[in-house]
Amino acid sequence: MEPVVIQCAVTGSADPRPPIPSTPEAIVQSALEAWRAGASVLHLHAREPDGTPTQDPAWFEPVVAGLRDAGCDAVLNLSTGTAGGRAVRDERLAVLRLRPELASFDCGTINFGERIFEGDLPFLRRMAAAFREHGVVPEVECFDTGHVGTALQLVEEGVLDPPLLVQLVVGVPGTGVPATIAQVEHLRRLLPPEWPWLVAAAGAAQLPLNTYCLIAGGHVRTGLEDNLRYAKGVPATNRALVERVVRLAGELGRPVATPARARELLGLPSRG
Ligand code: ZN
Repeated sequence: MEPVVIQCAVTGSADPRPPIPSTPEAIVQSALEAWRAGASVLHLHAREPDGTPTQDPAWFEPVVAGLRDAGCDAVLNLSTGTAGGRAVRDERLAVLRLRPELASFDCGTINFGERIFEGDLPFLRRMAAAFREHGVVPEVECFDTGHVGTALQLVEEGVLDPPLLVQLVVGVPGTGVPATIAQVEHLRRLLPPEWPWLVAAAGAAQLPLNTYCLIAGGHVRTGLEDNLRYAKGVPATNRALVERVVRLAGELGRPVATPARARELLGLPSRG
C-alpha cells in the first residue's frame, strides 16, 4: 500500500487554552514532538507571546527558524487563514513571502464559527497568483461541495496547476458540514482519482476519519487544531495524536512516509 503522509496541525487559531501550544516556543516544541513521532508535514499558525493568533509573518519567522535550527526536515505548511478573524483577505497572504513549501488555500466562502470566512473568486485568483509568485504549493482546503467545484474551475481557468493536493474539511462548527464518511466520499467522487487528498475532521470525528483515510488510501491530518481530546475527558497532545495514527497505520498495513517520501507523494520539489 502507498505510504501515508501524516500531517499534524499543531496549534490553529482558536483562543489560547490548554492543551493548545500557545507561545512561539511551545509551538516549536510541540511541532518537534509531532515530527519525531512520525508527522512529515507540520501545519502551522502563528501566535504572539500571549497566545493571540496572528497572521503577521514576523511571528511565523521564529517558529520556522526554531524548527529548522532543531534539524526538523518536515514539510512546513503555513496557514493563510484569518487568524481568528484578525486578518482580512490580502493581509492573509503576507506569510507567502517566507516561501514555505506548502500553504493553505481556502477555496471559497463559508460560515465558520460565528463569522463569515471570505473567499470570493477575484480574491482566490489573486491568492493563486501570489502562491505562484512565491513558488508555494497550495493545499486546497475544501469545506463543502462548492469549494471542490471552485477548485476544479480554477484548474480549468489555468489559475491552479493540477494535480492539486486537496484537504477536505468537515465538522467545523458553524459550517453546517457533517463530519461523516458519506460526506467525505461525496466530495472525493468529484476529484480526479490521482489527486492526493486528506481529511481534516473536527473534534471526536478526527479518530474515525483518520482511520477511514488510512483504509481508503488518503493521507491523514491530526493535531490539536482540530481536536483537543485524545479520548472523552482526556486532553490530547500533538505527539500522542500522531503516535496513535502511526500505530493505526501499522495495524492497517500503511507504511508511514518520511518527509522525503512525503515530498514525492505530494508533488513537492525535494529539499536540497
Ligand atoms: Zn489551520
